[in-house]
Amino acid sequence: MMGRGDQRGKVGFIGLGTMGREMAINLLKAGHAVYAYDVRKDAIGDLLPHGASAAAHPADAAREADIVISMLPDTPQVEEIVYGENGLLASPPRGRLVVDMSTISPVAVRRMHADLKAAGVDFLDAPVSGGPVGAKNASLSIMTGGDADAFARAEPYFGAMGTTITHVGEAGAGQTVKLCNQLVCAINLQAICEALALGRASGVDLDQLRNVLLGGSAASWMLEKLGPAMIAGDPSAGFRIDLMLKDLRLVQEQALSLCVPLPATALVTSQYVEARAHGEGTNGNQALFRVYDRMTNQAAA
Ligand code: NAD
Repeated sequence: MMGRGDQRGKVGFIGLGTMGREMAINLLKAGHAVYAYDVRKDAIGDLLPHGASAAAHPADAAREADIVISMLPDTPQVEEIVYGENGLLASPPRGRLVVDMSTISPVAVRRMHADLKAAGVDFLDAPVSGGPVGAKNASLSIMTGGDADAFARAEPYFGAMGTTITHVGEAGAGQTVKLCNQLVCAINLQAICEALALGRASGVDLDQLRNVLLGGSAASWMLEKLGPAMIAGDPSAGFRIDLMLKDLRLVQEQALSLCVPLPATALVTSQYVEARAHGEGTNGNQALFRVYDRMTNQAAA
């Protein structure tokens, strides 16, 4: 167990995909022991040269751990590692702290928080923003919901993965803040698509257009990081279209349950559905611009 003055702990890490792989490596770099589990055996094997130990299932990753961290695609996968066979509810980590850093339903988070609490285990929702580059550079923004004392115990581990680390409220609050983040990202991306579509149809050089916008009040993270791939027609995935569509579904579910109208979110969600229908689900979010290729009958660059 990690004590005062000892910055090294034992982490069970579940979900070694685009984000989780880099986050687990940063925990190893910070001197923590990592017991790595993923349903993909090759993802576990890939972490072993970095110093991780292989785990056979979630309970095995938890056995020696002070904390278990998960980074999984969606709500059902997180529920599976909590409630399923060899799950964390029946076999919690020794340190009795579970932190899910995926983007999932706030309703499911509150249920897992209550069920684990009843078993004497703390649960935090701590979704992240910053993408694969933020995961690799340990510069993620981490927004956390749950009990304050559990947050304090998790903070040293968060420090190995991110730079902006905030406790935003009770269980589920981290997910709510993340969903607000996602609707801003999606609508901003749509605005960039519209500017590029208009600029392209008008014969303006798109690299120059992007540079000018970046120097003024239209600048944004999306324009800076995804703009080049949008213009080049590079579909390679970082944050996939299907993951954003999952996030927009969660935004809409929460908004409807609270009777909050989100008209711009509804519009951009339709465009993500269109993108997926054209086989772009596994492409990166910059592929939203392909929707505008089709609407304007323009070939990709
Ligand atoms: P990913 O699909 O690349 O990785 C998920 C990993 O979980 C995969 O390796 C998969 O094999 C594994 N997995 C699936 N089901 C499992 C199970 N039951 N048990 C163990 N492992 C299982 O996804 P990602 O891009 O790393 O995203 C993970 C989460 O982080 C998502 O909720 C996503 O919305 C969120 N997120 C992603 C980004 C990004 O830019 N990619 C940014 C911020 C947040």
